[in-house]
Amino acid sequence: MEISYKGKKVLVTGAGRGIGRDLVVTLAKQGATVYALTKTAELLQQLQKELPSIRPVLVDLTNWEETKAALENIEAVDHVVNNAGVAVSKPLLETTGDDFDWIFGVNVKALLNVTQVMVKKMIAAGIQGSVINVSSVSAQKTAPGLSVYCASKAAVDMLTKSMANEWGQHKIRVNSVNPTIVWTDMGKQLWTDPAKSEPILSRIPLGRFANIDEVINAILFIMSDKASMTTGETFLIDGGYAAR
Ligand code: NDP
Repeated sequence: MEISYKGKKVLVTGAGRGIGRDLVVTLAKQGATVYALTKTAELLQQLQKELPSIRPVLVDLTNWEETKAALENIEAVDHVVNNAGVAVSKPLLETTGDDFDWIFGVNVKALLNVTQVMVKKMIAAGIQGSVINVSSVSAQKTAPGLSVYCASKAAVDMLTKSMANEWGQHKIRVNSVNPTIVWTDMGKQLWTDPAKSEPILSRIPLGRFANIDEVINAILFIMSDKASMTTGETFLIDGGYAAR
């Protein structure tokens, strides 16, 4: 089975680092036109230096109006990957209103904003494309210190189902990918302490965490026409963790 994004147009959020950056590189090398959205100018410039073909979109997703304005300027795309995400590690009793607003603001509210703008364009252009929301196994399983993050990803999964339900009539598919820990900057920040990560690792039947490539391969498959009958689905990349 061959999956190619040559000639496709894709918007990827959270493109400055980690999963989003590697996804942009993979898609651009396959010949896709990639709109790479992130909030740190320096990281976007580095990415563009490496891949002059990418179309940079510099905006902070916590700003609803600026995000809308930045996206209004770009053409309709075939695929949207809502990958940008943030986490704060704190017990519930210490979590502040600002923590909550920031986590839900980026992980949930901005995801809705980006998808609204881009799906309206897809519908107007008659594009039968797809949306991928990068969620987490934390949508289904609690993680110590990450309760609000877990709740935000559960919200992402339910939005994914609702979007699939509303936009199926336009032949636009919407799915999430739900990885376990991946050693990106976010993964390292949250899980470097073995006292935190070992209890999770010990419950993963495959006995290890995920690689960035494993997340990207899942995205490339579910986003493509090869998964043409799959929508509203949450695709676990967790080594069997949620099955226990
Ligand atoms: P990273 O922290 O490595 O990268 C996140 C990217 O999102 C960065 O480029 C960051 O920008 C960007 N971003 C964050 N907030 C905003 C914002 N307000 N506006 C625009 N861009 C923003 O994360 P990962 O690659 O690890 O995570 C990607 C996704 O995968 C997230 O949704 C995360 O929740 C999910 N995930 C990650 C797991 C892990 O263990 N790593 C496990 C399961 C799910 P900047 O570079 O400026 O900070």
